[in-house]
Amino acid sequence: MYLDISTWEQTFQSLIQQEEPWAKWTLKLNENIQPGGMARGWRQYLQRAFGRFWCSSCHRSWTSAQVKILCHMYRERRTTQGQVLMRVFAQRCQKCSWSQFENPEFSSDSTMRILNNLAQCILHNYYGHNFRKMPVAPVVGLDGPHDRSNCEACTLGVCVRGSQGHIKKPTESPPSTPKPGHFLILYGNATPGEVPLELTSADILVIGGIAIFFILFIAIWWEQNKFKFKL
Ligand SMILES: [Zn+2]
Ligand SMILES: [Zn+2]
Repeated sequence: MYLDISTWEQTFQSLIQQEEPWAKWTLKLNENIQPGGMARGWRQYLQRAFGRFWCSSCHRSWTSAQVKILCHMYRERRTTQGQVLMRVFAQRCQKCSWSQFENPEFSSDSTMRILNNLAQCILHNYYGHNFRKMPVAPVVGLDGPHDRSNCEACTLGVCVRGSQGHIKKPTESPPSTPKPGHFLILYGNATPGEVPLELTSADILVIGGIAIFFILFIAIWWEQNKFKFKL
C-alpha cells in the first residue's frame, strides 16, 4: 500500500474530534469512486497536494504539486457517524510511454495538509465551522509544468492547473472556471446542482404550520359561507 490508510484515518479522526469530540468519521481508500459520481446524499471534495512518484520501469522519480485527491463524504442523518471514501489520482512516467500509472507518496507535512483540509471541509460542511484551509506548501525544484497526458486526474477531467479547486453550491451556476483558493464541493444528486431533498425538523414544522393554516382558513370560510349554499 502506497499510503498507510489506518494511520491517516487515526490522524483524520483526531483532527475532527479536536473540534467535535463526539463525531465518529471513518476514512477508507476507494479506487472506484468517480468525480461527480456520488450517490444521493453524498458530497464531493477535491483537493490537490504535493507528492512524489517513482517509475517502476526506469526508477526515475518526479514530484508534482498537482496530485489530485478526491473524497466522497457522507454523514448519517441524526447521528454523529460519517464516512469518507478517498481516491488518490496516479501519474505516469514522462520518459516511459509504456509505463503504468504510479501512486504517489506524501511527506508527513503534505499528509497533514491533506488531512487537515479534509477535516476542515467536513467541520465546515457538516458542523458549520469556519473554513481554515492550509494552502499547498510553496514548492521548489518541481520537474517542469504539469504533464497532463500522464496524469490520471487530467484524463478524467478533474485536474485544473493552478487552482485549488472551488466551492460548488447547489444554487450556483453550473460548473465553470474554478476560482483559485477555494475548494470543489459537489453534492450527490440525480441532477448535478440540484439541492438534496432532505427535510429537517424545522422544514416539517413549517410545512405543518402552512397545512394547519389552510385547513383553518377553509373551515372559517365554510362557516361564513355555508348559508349561501343553502339558499
Ligand atoms: Zn520511467
Ligand atoms: Zn492533471
